[in-house]
Amino acid sequence: MAAFDKLPDKPDHPALELEILDLWEREGTFAQLRELNRGNENWSFIDGPVTANKTLAVHTAWGRTLKDVFQRYKALRGFDQRYQNGFDCQGLWIEVGVERQLGLNSKREIEQYGLEEFAARCREVVVWSSEELTKGSIRLGMWMDWGNDYFTFSDTNIEYVWRMLKTVHERDWLYLGHRATEWCPRCGTSISAHELAGNYVDRADPSLYVRLPLLDRPGESLVVWTTTPWTLPANVAAAVKPDADYGRRLNGEWVAAPRYPDEGFDEILKGKDLVGWRYEGPFDDLSPGAAVEHRVIPWDEVTMEEGTGIVHIAPGAGAEDFELSRVHDLPVLTPVDESGRFYDDYGWLHGLSTVEAAEQIIGNLEEKGRLVEAGLYEHRYPECWRCHTPLIFRIADDWFISVRVLRQQMLDANATVEWVPEYMGKRMDDWLHNMGDWNISRRRYYGLPLPFYPCACGHLNVIGSKKELEERAVEGLDQLEELRRPWIDRVPVRCEACGDAVQRILEVGDVWLDAGIVPFSTLGWQNDEVVPGGYGTGAARGLTGADLPDEAYWEKWFPADWVSEMREQIRLWFYSQLFMSVVLTGASPFKRVLGYEKMLDESGREMHGSWGNMIDADDAFARMGADVMRWQYCAQPPNQNLLFGFGPAEEIKGKILRLWNSVRFLVLYGNVDDWKPRLADLAAGPDGELGALDRWMVERTRALVSETRQAYEDTLTVNVIRAFEAFVDDLSNWYIRRSRRRFWDGDEAALRTLWFALATAIRVIGPVMPFLAEELWQRVVRVAGAPSSVFLAGWPEPGEPDEALLEEIAAVRRVVELGRQARAVANQRQRQPLRKLVVQGASLPAHEEELRDELRVKEVEFGTVEATELRVKPNLPVLGPKLGAALGDIRRALAAGEFEQLPDGGIRVLGHDLGADEVLIETVGRDGWAVASDDGVTVAVETAVDPELELEGRAYDLIHELNTLRRDRGFELTDRVKIVVPERWRDVVERHGDWVAREVLATELTVGGLEEPQIERV
Ligand SMILES: [Zn+2]
Ligand SMILES: [Zn+2]
Repeated sequence: MAAFDKLPDKPDHPALELEILDLWEREGTFAQLRELNRGNENWSFIDGPVTANKTLAVHTAWGRTLKDVFQRYKALRGFDQRYQNGFDCQGLWIEVGVERQLGLNSKREIEQYGLEEFAARCREVVVWSSEELTKGSIRLGMWMDWGNDYFTFSDTNIEYVWRMLKTVHERDWLYLGHRATEWCPRCGTSISAHELAGNYVDRADPSLYVRLPLLDRPGESLVVWTTTPWTLPANVAAAVKPDADYGRRLNGEWVAAPRYPDEGFDEILKGKDLVGWRYEGPFDDLSPGAAVEHRVIPWDEVTMEEGTGIVHIAPGAGAEDFELSRVHDLPVLTPVDESGRFYDDYGWLHGLSTVEAAEQIIGNLEEKGRLVEAGLYEHRYPECWRCHTPLIFRIADDWFISVRVLRQQMLDANATVEWVPEYMGKRMDDWLHNMGDWNISRRRYYGLPLPFYPCACGHLNVIGSKKELEERAVEGLDQLEELRRPWIDRVPVRCEACGDAVQRILEVGDVWLDAGIVPFSTLGWQNDEVVPGGYGTGAARGLTGADLPDEAYWEKWFPADWVSEMREQIRLWFYSQLFMSVVLTGASPFKRVLGYEKMLDESGREMHGSWGNMIDADDAFARMGADVMRWQYCAQPPNQNLLFGFGPAEEIKGKILRLWNSVRFLVLYGNVDDWKPRLADLAAGPDGELGALDRWMVERTRALVSETRQAYEDTLTVNVIRAFEAFVDDLSNWYIRRSRRRFWDGDEAALRTLWFALATAIRVIGPVMPFLAEELWQRVVRVAGAPSSVFLAGWPEPGEPDEALLEEIAAVRRVVELGRQARAVANQRQRQPLRKLVVQGASLPAHEEELRDELRVKEVEFGTVEATELRVKPNLPVLGPKLGAALGDIRRALAAGEFEQLPDGGIRVLGHDLGADEVLIETVGRDGWAVASDDGVTVAVETAVDPELELEGRAYDLIHELNTLRRDRGFELTDRVKIVVPERWRDVVERHGDWVAREVLATELTVGGLEEPQIERV
């Protein structure tokens, strides 16, 4: 019976992947793997939580693939691992989605809808999405401890953040800041610096020049410029640069003189001379403005690059303005409320949004004769990262963690981390150098409730755990379903200073608190004993069976050996984890990081749902298959954007097909001879009598193992793919092709060598494409009695490769490649035998026969390629400027061959010594020879074809034609045939008939009178 089942022509990736998923399920392969490695040395990977508000996207699948690749690799190396997946479940992502779904447009509408109901809807999204993401990830081939995931909205996770915040408070780093902050009027909350970065868009805003009449200089006015008309009603001052020149126009308008170099001015004064001038505000007809004494203030930062050089200052609507208000004791007018609408005391503006107000304001200024000019201004402007509403500045009270002490500690901690690619570590340093205090509060609903209870007596109570909350609660514990709004808002606590009942503030926490605490909350930091199922608390109840481990477990698994996310996580998850870990332990929570850049579509554009170029993961699974997706992700250098798509997928399928075809070859010829693989060969390759090519293939296989191991250790999948592609090329284009005849003869050593090479290749590529590797393992390796899965067989250890032998064959392949090039230069088809080959720069006498055969020449000589002449041309961009008029003569002399070669590779011509970089030297064959050279090796072939060679060439043509015919007629490899060829082949059959017959397995080869060859089975 044949050892192997027949392999189809090509793999049907999606179909075989589903079968492999079934197989793994049926045989409990992953559970067996975990059991196999249990108790071994551990390798700690911590999964950055994926936001549970969507189905699996191809972007997310990239990161998940990398995580799976390295977990699988480390499992093959025998490491014990945790495999815990995480879901991010709170914050604006979730809220905004639910608002859209319910058609709610403001915070008031959410409150009318009811916070209990709203919380229930948010949880439903998380439940739905976590199921979808799990399904998609399994389909991708990701092995995780599904069902024991962590959910950041569990009470357990929330409690760990509380504990961290209490620590921060005890160190006196927590404070309530009153400051101007970027604010999303739609979401009704402030936006912190790390949420801002990268969320700038091009926008056209109004550009206004406004006249402000001077109270003490009749007929004169200041002209200010603004792109935010809505801030004008909050104007309290106008700033000038003290040392700059300001000029008065004929019409009495004051502007900075350098801004208008072509204008004449009646009077020029320094900015400092203007300081103190009083003016009429733009909206003194509204009561807030009327109460202000507007005046000119000095400010060194006033720019002379744009505007009029006189800056409108509204401390209630700008960060720098707010700072100036402290220096100059200016009043602060806050014109808009949390939803960005004007307060009632702004008269006819009341209730308008900042955008709606702009038009009214422009119209009003026009009517009052205050508008000098109105137009549009294009600039980069920040928008809300979640809902894309343009941000405004607002004065707000937010909770901050001071980074004054932490900054250096975090920089020190980051210095211990190994970043791949390295520049991402520098980016982290940049971020740490520049970050401001962490604004942790958000005025929202579905988030971590900040456990802050400020008492009227002046004491700030911070609760550190649920237990502490229960002990200090005044009432409301019986209705506390989750540590979440609205329930928690009904639990006042006793002030530890004065004993009064205190209410919690209403704010929730920045979502990055939730994710940053994970290295503590999931590993049982400072937890006395294991709580079975202890992660399924609060909103996570019923969603996970994850235990809450104890402190010993945390000590075992912290810090993480490795984490991986995309680059933007530097200022998000990597940062928040580092921040919290430095607070709690003083050290980094991870040792190594793999970051990667962005995904674009295959033409290099961003992917957007509305542009129709977004690829759904299900679509990709169905049309390319998970292995092809994974290959595409893994082939990507992490320092460049990935151009993902179906086009590249087709190329990858072609590459995978080469491996498949090599396995198919083994199956075909192994079955012909009823050959059976030996399990013992799996470890180190075949023993006994091996041919030279076999020995090389064994070494080449060892090299593949060491190259891919190094690539995995460097966490550079792109190097795994490169090593693998080069190996498959050597295997199929050299080893199999050169050994073809031995396979026909059922050569045992060749079959054993090929089986070892393929089995090993399958093992090392398993982490990248687990499905195809498993499929091939089942078909050609498991049948030999090997472990039931490629992932249960461990990492191959076939020994270190013989580098000298590998280099020797690499040189042979280089010579063959050059020989082909030379033949191509001479327009000589590869099938035509030629007389002679001369090789210079590589002495490979042991491979003379191989070279004769590969390059189809009768004779190979190692020596000097004399059959060459040099053609030298001037390198014009270099020599032109140097030689000037002499260039023409030199060019002519070079063309005529009137030059001599210098030892350093340069050329002497007409008394000029030209350097090697100043000329272009080409080696060409003399008449009757074709030459190619590269990297110190030169190869020449004699191109003349005599009648004898011509006849032999035609014999090759006939063999090729007849073998093609056999294939087209569907004959088996072993079928013997009878052949009659047309009269035109008579001379070939007479001279080379026996040879041709052997090559095409013909028992009879005769010449007849027909037009086409006739062939039949015997
Ligand atoms: Zn928003
Ligand atoms: Zn108190």
